[in-house]
Amino acid sequence: MKERRKGIAILGSTGSIGTQALDVIRSQAEYFSAEILTSFNNADLLIRQAMEFMPDAVVISNESKYAKVRDALSRLPIKVYAGSDAISQVVKHDNIDTVLTAMVGYSGLKPTLSAVEAGKNIALANKETLVVAGELVMNKAIERGVNIHPVDSEHSAIYQCMAGEWSNPIEKIYLTASGGPFRGKDRNFLSTVKKEQALKHPNWEMGAKITIDSASMMNKGLEMIEAKWLFNLKPEQIEVIVHPQSIIHSIVQFEDGSMKAQMGLPDMKLPIQYALAYPDRLKSDFPRFNFALYPQLSFEAPDLESFRNLALAMEAMKRGGNLPCILNAANEVAVSAFLHDRISFTEMSSLVEDCMQHISFLEHPTYDDYVSTDSETRSFAEKCIPA
Ligand code: MG
Repeated sequence: MKERRKGIAILGSTGSIGTQALDVIRSQAEYFSAEILTSFNNADLLIRQAMEFMPDAVVISNESKYAKVRDALSRLPIKVYAGSDAISQVVKHDNIDTVLTAMVGYSGLKPTLSAVEAGKNIALANKETLVVAGELVMNKAIERGVNIHPVDSEHSAIYQCMAGEWSNPIEKIYLTASGGPFRGKDRNFLSTVKKEQALKHPNWEMGAKITIDSASMMNKGLEMIEAKWLFNLKPEQIEVIVHPQSIIHSIVQFEDGSMKAQMGLPDMKLPIQYALAYPDRLKSDFPRFNFALYPQLSFEAPDLESFRNLALAMEAMKRGGNLPCILNAANEVAVSAFLHDRISFTEMSSLVEDCMQHISFLEHPTYDDYVSTDSETRSFAEKCIPA
């Protein structure tokens, strides 16, 4: 048993990653305690989680739900705050060792920067933060001596392969992709798909935004940019390979040609636990891999013609500057519009491309530039969508 349990802040505790992180904390209660829980909108689940885990504080971003949460927890010694600015404040609390960033999209940037500034280790599940402002976040982390432990399964795989290898340069990495529900389909087919089809992922149970991103392959594009910053790689050192079984979670190739892969069943609890317990491996009862059930592992090249998003993300990664920020903001608007039946599946890529062409390119953006690029892109994208 550790001298003191690690204090964990979970930003986005009511989402898919957040609830699985609480499963991990529940089963590893001698190592971890949940000290901060935050939710964007789900007051009921946040209240139930607070009653079970007795954190020091909770934050509900949607201020109209503040009174409900406060009243429900009034007899308990739990501080209740509201509004997204409160999240950037609570992550600085002394009882926090690691901040798990599991909110959706661009909203993760500000609290992540605030936690890094306060010297907290990050368990990063919010890839958009690095997509938008990777250079800024990584430089700040180095300056503050903070570790960023990836939770994304592919990046966790690379991170696990790097144990004992940090002095050995990476020649290249292979990020594996399941290919999603529309693997092998062409653009004609893709132009007709409905959100119900796109929301059914073959291997992974995830939130709506990332499930659509996986179906459109934007998720893998965002992950390439995330990997570039996490592992300090050049774009040409990052390759995507489609591996439909999702057993090999990614591969590192070293300069002697040797390749290390990390494998296991697709279950986010493992990368979550690894990020929280790093560098230790805690005994778990997660289901074990059975070779008899997977007689074949297969690999194929991604289809950049049908899945335009992946090509667009590669372009954004190569050109850098604020282009990944534009890509991300346009994609967040596009996914939301698709989920509201306002645009088709393939129109998502067209919208992202229009934004990348229209919004001014900045080679060396500051934090303020990212904020204005994000809002400019969102309003331009909204205007492009037919009413
Ligand atoms: Mg992933």
